Amino acid sequence: MSYDNENIFAKIIRGEFGCIKVYEDEKTIAFMDIMPQADGHTLVIAKESAETLPELSDDGAAACIQTVKKIINAVKIAMNVPAATVLQLNGSEAGQTVPHIHFHVIPGSILSAKSHAREMADQEVLKGFAEKIIAALD
Ligand code: AMP
Repeated sequence: MSYDNENIFAKIIRGEFGCIKVYEDEKTIAFMDIMPQADGHTLVIAKESAETLPELSDDGAAACIQTVKKIINAVKIAMNVPAATVLQLNGSEAGQTVPHIHFHVIPGSILSAKSHAREMADQEVLKGFAEKIIAALD
């Protein structure tokens, strides 16, 4: 299927839609998930236009994993948890709701996490978590 340039993450990359950003480099952006499955749930997206992981270039995939590693370390410190889960859904049949490649970094265990993309969080609370994650990245 062809890439949908109007998906919400494409708009975030182009700066047409806001996000609570914690990290950005040449090839990736990390920001707070608005319907988090746990406190500190962060998304890492590639700037490259790709819907799923197999469609992403090896270079883009490597950049995403480097950012995912940074975010795992930061959320563990920021949210004071001993572990984090990385979740990555490929295709709507797998439950992917936004058709742009992204990795979920969910503090703690997926076994105790809330349902996927179900409940909107308070923006101010998310900003508070973002500040802690940014501080832990430094
Ligand atoms: P997936 O179902 O794997 O495609 O995950 C998409 C994730 O994006 C869900 O966890 C949503 O809560 C999250 N999400 C959707 N729109 C936004 C947005 N505008 N800003 C931040 N997170 C979003």
